[in-house]
Amino acid sequence: MNTYELIKKKRDGESLSTEEIEYLISGFTHGRIPDYQMAAFLMSVYFKGMNARECRDLTMKMVHSGESVDLSPIKGFKVDKHSTGGVGDKTTLVLAPLVAACGGIVAKMSGRELGHTGGTVDKLESIPGMRTDFTRDQFVDITNRVHMSVIAQTATLAPADKLIYALRNVTATVDVIPLIASSIMSKKLAAGADGIVLDVKTGAGAFTPHYTDAVKLAKTMVGIGEGVGRKTTAFITGMAQPLGCAIGNALEVKESIDTLNGSGPPDLTDLVLTLGSEMLLLSGIGQTRPEARALLKSHIANKKGAQRFKAFIEAQGGDPDVVENTDLLPRSKTTISLESGRSGFVQGVDALEVGMAAKILGAGRQTKEDAIDLSIGIVLNKKVGDPVRQGELLAVLHSDGGTSKIDPAVKRLLGAYTIGTEYMAPPKLILARISGDGVKELNG
Ligand code: URA
Repeated sequence: MNTYELIKKKRDGESLSTEEIEYLISGFTHGRIPDYQMAAFLMSVYFKGMNARECRDLTMKMVHSGESVDLSPIKGFKVDKHSTGGVGDKTTLVLAPLVAACGGIVAKMSGRELGHTGGTVDKLESIPGMRTDFTRDQFVDITNRVHMSVIAQTATLAPADKLIYALRNVTATVDVIPLIASSIMSKKLAAGADGIVLDVKTGAGAFTPHYTDAVKLAKTMVGIGEGVGRKTTAFITGMAQPLGCAIGNALEVKESIDTLNGSGPPDLTDLVLTLGSEMLLLSGIGQTRPEARALLKSHIANKKGAQRFKAFIEAQGGDPDVVENTDLLPRSKTTISLESGRSGFVQGVDALEVGMAAKILGAGRQTKEDAIDLSIGIVLNKKVGDPVRQGELLAVLHSDGGTSKIDPAVKRLLGAYTIGTEYMAPPKLILARISGDGVKELNG
C-alpha cells in the first residue's frame, strides 16, 4: 500500500477498504506517515466524505490505537451521555446523579473546554478538593459504590484521535461530519459503556449550527455505535441561546445544585429529564418515557439526586458540604451589572457570543497552558422571550477585576443581546430523537 495512492483514491471520491484505513491510521500514529500527507487525506475527506462502513472502520482503528476501558467489573448496564458541546451546558452534573439515584449506572469520562464551549472536568474542579484523575481500578470502585463516577479522559484513550484532532485544528478540517463523528465515538466506545445517549447541539453556539448538519452528525454517530453493538440514541437540542443562566465553572456547579434541588432553570431541567429518561430506558429502568420522566422528577422532589451528587463529590475527594452551602464554591473578586439600554423584549442571546464573552473575561483558557480562574463567568438575568425595561439588569459578570478583560467582555455580551419591540418566543429546545429506527422530529 502507498499513502500517495490512498490520498488520490479519496480525492477522486472512491471509498477506502478497511485495510487501507488501518494502514493510514496506524502509519500516522506510529510516525510513518508525515503530517502533510495526513492533512491532505483529511482535506480529501472534507470534500468527498466517507460512507457508513468507512466511518465505522475509522472509528474502530482510532479506538484500537490505545487502551479500551474494561468496565466489566462494574455490575449492571453502564450508560454514558455525550454532548457535542455548548455554552452553559452543565447537564452532566445534574443528569448523572439523578440517573444514578434512579438505579442507573453512569461511568463517564469527560473532557475540558473546547473552543468557546466549557468542559465538565473544569467545572468539577471548581468544587474544593475534587479529583478527576483516577486509575481504572479506582474508577471502577467509585462507580460500584456510588453508581456514578466522572473522570478525565486519559492520554491512552484513542491517542490517534488526539494526534488527528491537533492536525485538524490547524488545517481547517474540524467541521467535517465523518471526522467529528469518528473522533467523538472513538472516545465513547473506548470508554466502555454499554449504552450511549448523544446530545447533538444545533444553533449559534454549537459546532454544527445548522439543523440538517446536526441531524447528519447524529445519524452518523448512531450508525457507528449501533454498528458495533452499543445501544445508541441521539437528541438534537437547541444551542441558539445558552443553556440555563450560568456560564463559567463554579457558577455552573451552583446552578446544577439548584437544579437538583428543584429550583433550576426550566430549559436545563427539561433537557435533563429528556436525556435522563432515555438513559433509564436504555438501562431497562421504566417501561415508558412518561414513567421514566416521572421517576427522575420524583428524585428531584425527594432530594435523592442531590444526595447522590453529595456522595459522588465525597467519593472523588471533594467537599460534599458545597451541596448544602454553595457559598463554599470559589467566588469572584468583583461583579459588574450589565443593564439594558432600551425597553422591549429579548429576541436573541447569541450563545457563541456569550461563550466568547465568558472566555475573554477569564472563564476559559486563551492558550493550552493557561490556568483558569474557576470563579469567573456570567449569569444571565434575561433570556429570549423575557420583557425588559431600560436600565433593568440583563446579566451579571463575575470577574477578577482586570479592566483589560472587563471592557471587551461587556462589549461582547451586550452585542450578544437582541432587544426589540415584538415578543419573540424562546427557541425550541428538544428538536428530534434519532435512533436505529430513524429520525423523529419533536415539538419541544
Ligand atoms: N469533539 C470531539 O471530541 N471531536 C471533534 O471532532 C469535535 C468535537
